[in-house]
Amino acid sequence: MKTAVRVLACCVALACAVPGLATEVSEQAKALHERLLVLDTHLDTPANLPRPGWNVLDDHTAERDFSQVDLPRMREGGLDGGFWAIYTGQGDRSPEANLAARDHGLVRLAAIREMVAANPQQFELALTADDAQRIAAAGKRVVYISMENATPLATDPSLLTAYYRLGLRMLGITHLRNNEFGDSANTPPEWNGLSPAGKALVAEANRLGIVLDASHASDLVFDDLLELSRAPIVLSHSGADAIYEHPRNIDDERLRKLAAKGGVIQVNAYGGYLKDTSTTPERSKALEALEEKYGDQEHMDAATVARFLAERDAIDARYPPVRADFDDFLKHLLHIIEVAGPEHVGIGADWDGGGGVDGMEDITDLPRITQALLDAGYSEQQIAGIWGGNVLRVLRETERVAASLDGGAKKDVPAHAH
Ligand SMILES: [Zn+2]
Repeated sequence: MKTAVRVLACCVALACAVPGLATEVSEQAKALHERLLVLDTHLDTPANLPRPGWNVLDDHTAERDFSQVDLPRMREGGLDGGFWAIYTGQGDRSPEANLAARDHGLVRLAAIREMVAANPQQFELALTADDAQRIAAAGKRVVYISMENATPLATDPSLLTAYYRLGLRMLGITHLRNNEFGDSANTPPEWNGLSPAGKALVAEANRLGIVLDASHASDLVFDDLLELSRAPIVLSHSGADAIYEHPRNIDDERLRKLAAKGGVIQVNAYGGYLKDTSTTPERSKALEALEEKYGDQEHMDAATVARFLAERDAIDARYPPVRADFDDFLKHLLHIIEVAGPEHVGIGADWDGGGGVDGMEDITDLPRITQALLDAGYSEQQIAGIWGGNVLRVLRETERVAASLDGGAKKDVPAHAH
């Protein structure tokens, strides 16, 4: 849900830091953070690229712009890059909706590539696991491309080959509703896991060398992916049921199975999945009305943003929100590391998609995570894994599996579905 309400959930958190919350980051932690390759596996920043007048090279603030990622803040927060998502909202699956999703996916893919093409000194498209370190060492930001919700492929799953050739390296099956490929975590089951088309998509992703992502999918889809995929899988932005039971989070038994198969879970910082942030029906109604009025952030210019924020502040004043904070995020992170092991965990905070908590309002606060991991006793090597090494290991293994399955065919784009 990249709509205004979801943005609201984060903006509310962005607007004020909690006094007294520890924000100290030691020189040692800062130096380590700078030295490490720091990647996030779920950047929804591409949703901001079409905003009129918005430029990723400019410095923005979370509270005045409700964006959380741009180049100056990537430098300040030591974020080397990550997976930039092609997010598409789930339509009603009519032929018209599926065609609109197809077009939306291609346009968003083009926008990510255009960001890189327009700023070749600042960004570089990463296509292999080895690319990340090389690009970061050259002083540029790492741009892997991922897809959140496979609905752009519903009209023609063979488009996946074209997406691969244009840079796609991670694929999430569903979003907030079921689709042709499988069931969402948020809606009653339709397929009881992956659909036949979803199973075919898994085989195709394995053949091409695209990492499969179970975030937003139902537990049964997770189970199917784990069983069917020849390569390890990821949860690109998820949390732990043991800390807060929610359909978007995962139980400990599945965490252990994920790790046993070499996969990783990238921990989410979306407040509503970290703890119960539900408030009064009046507040929900007011937020829904605001969403209705403003729609997606991608259409908002600066003046509209200002009006939107003023109305949102008025709602907050009238119906005070419940917010998650950095400690809520840490509870999930530390629990997940404990259960899955530090080699199977990373960070996918859902920046620009609703992520961010009090005390970590945008990416400039990322060194706090490094500090917290040091405080918890994790080694530099383990922290390096969490910040990027672990997910790159999955990508590398996915590349190896693809090479073993079908080395040459991926270079061809089929003229028709197969
Ligand atoms: Zn998401």
